[in-house]
Amino acid sequence: MTGPTAVSETLYTSLADQLPGFISSALLQCKRLPTLPAVALNVLKISRGADATLSDYANAIEHDPALTARVMSVANSVHYLRAAQPPHTCFDATQRMGLDVTLATVLSFCLFEKDHTARARLQFWQRALTAAVAASYLAQQLCPHQSGSVFTTALLQDIGILALQTAYPADAELLYGTEYTSHPHIMQVEKRYFGCDHALVSAWLLAKWGAHDELVQAVLHSHDGFETADNAALCLNVSGSIADAWLSANPAQALAGVIRQLNALTPSNEWAISGLLAHLEHTLPPLMDTLNLSTPAVVNSVALLQEAQQLLFEHTLSLSARLDAQQQARETLLHDYAELEQRSRIDSLTQLANRAWLEQQLRERFHLCLTTKRTMSVVFIDLDHFKVLNDRYGHQAGDQVLAHFGRMLASLIRVGDLAGRYGGEEFLVILPDEDAEGARRFAERITRRLQERPMARVDQEPLYVSVSIGVACLTDGGFGDERELIDAADQSMYFIKRSGRGGVSVYGH
Ligand code: GH3
Ligand code: MG
Ligand code: MG
Repeated sequence: MTGPTAVSETLYTSLADQLPGFISSALLQCKRLPTLPAVALNVLKISRGADATLSDYANAIEHDPALTARVMSVANSVHYLRAAQPPHTCFDATQRMGLDVTLATVLSFCLFEKDHTARARLQFWQRALTAAVAASYLAQQLCPHQSGSVFTTALLQDIGILALQTAYPADAELLYGTEYTSHPHIMQVEKRYFGCDHALVSAWLLAKWGAHDELVQAVLHSHDGFETADNAALCLNVSGSIADAWLSANPAQALAGVIRQLNALTPSNEWAISGLLAHLEHTLPPLMDTLNLSTPAVVNSVALLQEAQQLLFEHTLSLSARLDAQQQARETLLHDYAELEQRSRIDSLTQLANRAWLEQQLRERFHLCLTTKRTMSVVFIDLDHFKVLNDRYGHQAGDQVLAHFGRMLASLIRVGDLAGRYGGEEFLVILPDEDAEGARRFAERITRRLQERPMARVDQEPLYVSVSIGVACLTDGGFGDERELIDAADQSMYFIKRSGRGGVSVYGH
């Protein structure tokens, strides 16, 4: 694609600014990032117009022979053929399928067709279609003239997941590859993992493709929750929760949760959930089948709603011990999962990054600096005479000092920096885009702060510690890899140890 147009440039820039630097660099460098050909983009553009016609669609699609062939073959499938003649033109095909299915066909062909096998991608696409069908149904009740654009937005709202999957295949396997998980939870985990959620990545990607601001904004806010005055946004947000419930391993309970939320919003229950569920039950299986997607377990919408209402009833009558226990178990499970994931990168005593995570980040950032011709500095910190401190005041006091020092270090770093515990009483801070002088100032702030503040109290007496700090900046040596950079900082730190401790030395300065 050619990238954002002048109109959406500001929006693109502001979205790019909101993405953590390492994510946007990884996405921009990723060669296999999903992309939309011009013809699909044009179809998208047409779909946003309130008065899009079938022939507008057909004309746009006909620019691409492969796409035309795909649309014709879908229209030729059993679900549309019925007794009629096979379609002869692209117009016949779009007429037979309707605007929404045509659009879904175009997007699935351009974005997903090649790789339906991966489980996470399948879940992704099932969710997108379910949400799109639900959203347009809801929009027909609440804001009929926007139902087409709501369908498109719902279909594209999670495109960021595809981008993250492509750029981080191994992490994505962990994040998205397990059983179907609801999006609020996925977003929480993403924020911890990537520093941003997929709604932002989706919006960024669409802006990068040059999609309309309106579509980009709608996607950006597609997961914001039900409290909005904008009916189209409400349909979109509700449709996501409905899709999560529909695809969940326990749909009745998930649905009960959605209904409870909706009832809190408008107690009069004008949501006609039963109509929506019946619509999903009848529309989704043929649609998924048409697009070569395996269908999730068939849901009986009447039974599902009854079960969900029963659960709600039990809950309201406080006979919900079972529900609460289940909910509790689920929350514990989610909590354990989050904790496990967190633990794999966090040092429990100091709450800073652990050594493995530091090393991985340093390796990635080092290579990123080389390819993007940027710089970075590392700051190696070793607490002085820590063994004596332990011997004199006890190991527990030593632990307190380490924990307090960790908190202090965390308070001194900026967004994008990474501080971690490298070993027993050794710490490392990565400062992206920082030169040696900036890194030295940072290190001196640490030594100053330690002179001002005790790191523990023993028998009411303040306990001060000093540190020896070595700094190395990427541009100050021909470092071949990240190890050599750490070694340089370590050597500088040892220079301070040898010259009496308590100070800062910068490699090569
Ligand atoms: P120097 O000024 O040369 O760095 O001397 P030092 O005593 O700080 O360095 P040395 O490497 O000899 O000893 C480090 C000590 O840190 C020894 C070890 O018992 C202690 N230590 C390592 N990890 C922990 C920990 O998690 N808690 C506590 N309390 N002490 C730790
Ligand atoms: Mg040491
Ligand atoms: Mg030490």
